[in-house]
Amino acid sequence: MKRVLITGAAGFLGSHLCERFLNENFFVIGMDNFITGSSKNIDLFKNHNNFEFIEHDVSKYIQINGDLDYILHFASPASPIDYLKIPIQTLKVGSLGTHNLLGLAKSKKATILVASTSEVYGDPLVHPQNESYFGNVNPIGPRGVYDEAKRFQEAITMAYHRFHNLDTKIVRIFNTYGPRMRLNDGRVLPAFIGQSLRNEDLTIFGDGSQTRSFCYVDDLIEGIYRLLQSDYNYPVNIGNPNEITIKDFANEIIKLSGSSHKVIFKDLPENDPLKRKPDIDLAKKILDWEPKIQRIEGLKLTYDYFCSLSDEELNKKDHQNFESYNNYK
Ligand code: NAD
Ligand code: UDP
Repeated sequence: MKRVLITGAAGFLGSHLCERFLNENFFVIGMDNFITGSSKNIDLFKNHNNFEFIEHDVSKYIQINGDLDYILHFASPASPIDYLKIPIQTLKVGSLGTHNLLGLAKSKKATILVASTSEVYGDPLVHPQNESYFGNVNPIGPRGVYDEAKRFQEAITMAYHRFHNLDTKIVRIFNTYGPRMRLNDGRVLPAFIGQSLRNEDLTIFGDGSQTRSFCYVDDLIEGIYRLLQSDYNYPVNIGNPNEITIKDFANEIIKLSGSSHKVIFKDLPENDPLKRKPDIDLAKKILDWEPKIQRIEGLKLTYDYFCSLSDEELNKKDHQNFESYNNYK
């Protein structure tokens, strides 16, 4: 049985990866320190015979007994509000954490895949973004703690590949959504759905003309699974190119909820990318992958998940009081 270590296992994407690899008959070791994740996300499989969980901060030395065939490094705050609240941990998990995991992969002769992001393109001057674009990132802006940690992550991963011949993969993930996101993590989809379920106005940052392209989680996981099996070692975009303005997105959520909520406008956060859309030609070519789930279907699945949460979870106040993350300047 192949053995895989998945960091960030108690988070949104990590928990879906654990589930997928268990279904593919892997022995899965999940690792997390719960800084933005939830033990509820691993409840589904914590008693599975082929699953082991280790509570650990990956920015500190990592000890794993036994062999490892694969490592998937997904530990990192991912929501802008999360990484602005814990900037040093964000920088550390992308740099020191990645270094530890690359060292572990080298010692175990394992293949490692690291979770990079469309944020390496910053506020892009090229549209849509393809993998050869170097990006437009402000290193000292509020988002720099995440963007530069991820850019360092890519650099050190390629250095281990080139210098140590390590089998490495880099996935550049574009905005992904689905069940098990934290309702109050501040990202736009849980923010809008949470507001609609609490009968609040939906908060649009800026005038809502900025765009994002949202990918349903099952499509992303399939792309990652294929990339891991491939022999490609350079970054690959995985995302859904169906682009939408945030204002139209808010209206889609309002329509889905069948309510008559209003939208209200708040300041646009500093360095908030104005456009984002993946060019996925490379993934199509080398992985024979493209997303299958339309937004209307994915949003319905996600909305139903959030509807199933308890009132206590719905009313948790972690981020709802923030005007926008400009408060963290
Ligand atoms: P998430 O916040 O739901 O999950 C991240 C998990 O990592 C959490 O469970 C958290 O507790 C854990 N973690 C953070 N720091 C840690 C540390 N030092 N040691 C151990 N565990 C730690 O976020 P997510 O959306 O699941 O994102 C997962 C990964 O995918 C991140 O690396 C993120 O940068 C990347 N990514 C996600 C998206 C997206 O749209 N969801 C987009 C681009 C990139
Ligand atoms: N956004 C918004 N209202 C919110 C939360 C986010 O208008 O309550 C906007 C945000 O300014 C950004 C987009 O939605 O333009 C996506 O934000 P998110 O935090 O999901 O992730 P990002 O793509 O910026 O990393």
